[in-house]
Amino acid sequence: MTTLFVSDLHLEAGRPEIGDQFLAFLAGEASRADALYILGDLFEVWVGDDDPNTHYAVIKQALRELVDNGVTTYFMHGNRDFMIGDVFARETGVRILSDPYPVDFYGDKVLLSHGDALCIDDVQYQNARRITRDPEWQAMMLAKPLAERLTIAKHLRAESIAHGAMIDQSITDVNQDEVLRVVRDHGVDVLLHGHTHRPAVHAIDLGDRVAKRIVLGDWYEQGSVVRWDESGPELCEMLRK
Ligand code: MN
Repeated sequence: MTTLFVSDLHLEAGRPEIGDQFLAFLAGEASRADALYILGDLFEVWVGDDDPNTHYAVIKQALRELVDNGVTTYFMHGNRDFMIGDVFARETGVRILSDPYPVDFYGDKVLLSHGDALCIDDVQYQNARRITRDPEWQAMMLAKPLAERLTIAKHLRAESIAHGAMIDQSITDVNQDEVLRVVRDHGVDVLLHGHTHRPAVHAIDLGDRVAKRIVLGDWYEQGSVVRWDESGPELCEMLRK
């Protein structure tokens, strides 16, 4: 049996082809899997579980069907959809994981993460992250009317795009020392994350042993998945039909 991992789909109504591919993935390969892990940024923006967005409703329904068919499905917050809450979990049946999340697969010790917490060179982003992950800030946001939250999200997204365009590409990637620290602290064989949209399998030399860092890709042009069974993990592209 296989466990599947995806991240960074950035689903939104304006990119229906990604939604179509994801729905086909849920109805097909994922429905035959042991479990599915969604490691953040499933949605492009999430301003609260009360958003009646019809594109998102279709995805929620498909997740519900997957869970009802017996596929345990996990979700970890990304930097786009960190406001996903208990109502979403109840509606879909997915289990929300904290970030980072340690787990064992077929004898390998694995640490799952969205990946943005590893990008510590981007100080401005990390400051914003600290503020927006604060439960008090989130409660303050959720108390605002939906329309106002959508407007704020639009502004934050424009700012984030402008910030990303201004700074060097190396700043938005993971910090290698932070990767070493996290892998050592958790004593894992594999660190599996998304966020950077730079799909790859890296060897991490720890001196006394070599660990692996697997980076999931985004779904802008094609799907990206890690398939993990008794023979180990494999990072694969899924071409769009
Ligand atoms: Mn991200």
